[in-house]
Formats: sequence, structure tokens, C-alpha cells
Amino acid sequence: MTTVFKKIIDRQIPAKIVYEDDQALVFEDIHPQAPVHLIVIPKKEIPTVNDITEADEALVGHLFGVMAKVARQLGLAGGYRVVTNCGPDAGQEVMHLHFHMLGGRTFDWPPG
Ligand code: AMP
Repeated sequence: MTTVFKKIIDRQIPAKIVYEDDQALVFEDIHPQAPVHLIVIPKKEIPTVNDITEADEALVGHLFGVMAKVARQLGLAGGYRVVTNCGPDAGQEVMHLHFHMLGGRTFDWPPG
């Protein structure tokens, strides 16, 4: 089944895109949980963290480099939180690997 994130990659549905390159896409979460709430995805369809293979390691590393670049562009000097939900216990809703990048406020630890 085509995920909503694949539809965003293919421009079948709109999104507020803040960064794009040949491997990655970053866009605003439709239900933001912080002043800055971005979704960072690979263009390659990988359902969950558990589906990452050795062949994807450079790609996943690239996504973290993208997050650092976007954080600098947005001036998130005070920091931000990166979250990935894997599977039902973590509440993953969209089966396309993604990292939530949350910033613009402080966060509690441990998370709920
Ligand atoms: P997760 O629970 O980790 O799978 O989170 C999925 C995230 O995708 C949620 O924070 C949703 O608000 C977000 N989301 C779902 N549909 C869209 C959409 N069309 N555009 C932007 N964000 C979306």
C-alpha cells in the first residue's frame, strides 16, 4: 500500500517542504507537537527501523547530516529532539521510515 509519505515524495499530495535532495525530503508535520516539527524521510521506501539493511547505512547517516544542516538553517541553536517510532508499541502510524525533528521549546525526559 502506498503510504502518505510516498505520496508526498511523488507530489500526489501537498506538503510544506523545507529541504530536498536526491535521497531525502524534509517537510512540516501536519499536526505539530512543537513550534518546529519536521518529518525527515529517505526517498527510498523503508517501512521501519527494523527494515534498515547494511546497504542503507550511508543513507541513514545522510539523513542525520540533513537534520544537522536543517537545524543550522532554522537557527535551532538551543537544541532539538530527534524521535523515531518503530512499530505499534511506539505508536508508529506511517510505515515509511521517518525521523521527527522537534524544536523551538524544551522537552521533558523521559518521554511519555
Ligand atoms: P508516527 O506516529 O511516528 O508514524 O508519525 C507520523 C507523523 O506523520 C505524525 O506526526 C503525523 O502528524 C504526520 N503526518 C501524517 N500525515 C501527514 C501529512 N500528510 N503531512 C505531514 N505530516 C503528516
